[in-house]
Amino acid sequence: MNPVERIAPRSADLGDGMIVRRALPTRQRRMVGAWCFLDHAGPIDFAPGGGMHVGAHPHTCLQTFTWLIEGEVLHRDSLGNEQVIRPGQVNLMTAGHGIVHTEDSLPTAHRLHAAQLWIALPATLADCAPAFEHYPELPRWSADGCAFTLLAGHFGGHAAPAQVHTPLVGLDILAAAPATLALPLEPGFEYGLLALEGGMRIAGERFATDEFAFIGAGADRLPLALDAGSRVLLLGGAPFGEPVLMWWNFVGHSKAAIARAQQEWEAGDARFGAVAGDSGSRRLVAPPLPWAAY
Ligand code: MN
Repeated sequence: MNPVERIAPRSADLGDGMIVRRALPTRQRRMVGAWCFLDHAGPIDFAPGGGMHVGAHPHTCLQTFTWLIEGEVLHRDSLGNEQVIRPGQVNLMTAGHGIVHTEDSLPTAHRLHAAQLWIALPATLADCAPAFEHYPELPRWSADGCAFTLLAGHFGGHAAPAQVHTPLVGLDILAAAPATLALPLEPGFEYGLLALEGGMRIAGERFATDEFAFIGAGADRLPLALDAGSRVLLLGGAPFGEPVLMWWNFVGHSKAAIARAQQEWEAGDARFGAVAGDSGSRRLVAPPLPWAAY
């Protein structure tokens, strides 16, 4: 098997003291397949009214992919969607040409544990129409003492319902007792693994909670051992063949595309619309571009 690359997470502050650990992107690793962003939020307890509250912000050229483990979060977007996501469910928002959304823990919620991911769109779909899908039921099965939930793509003869546009997989593995697995891999995929709870050993190497493990393409089997009470997120995908730029909440295939998105968001352009029922007082401001605007 290829060597396993160990990547320490960095912390990011979403505001209101909501600290997350960011596994992607990092200096060492920008993407795993088309997966280009991974924030691990919680598990965290909070008083009623607390939790996650992210004001209106835009996205382009990506899909936001939310995997909720604990809590209740309300998603609202500029297409008029209003959807509460609950544990065991996935929200998939395709930004394409442009969309705006807000995310808020429900007033009744007192805990949050989630993985927030982005999937980059290929250049051919960079300007596709925006869309939102909620997936309340996912393929679930038990094997080798673990509970598996397929979040995206295909694995072990199962197929997840999420509409994605490049070959990729997302899998949640939960072990109540110590478990030893030999997971079949797609040799054309590269993989990333993150223990969301507990810890694991990959080919004998130990990884603690939030230590990201990257494995390059070419492996067909993954020797994995989970500690009791561990939950591991497995991401995989065909190496993304196109250079992708990420800045703030925008993905793009050129600096010009990202600069245009920033200018149109700041100008209140109709490209992004507005979240119905949102006063606009929580509208997030795009920071200055890290390069000279075109
Ligand atoms: Mn967002």
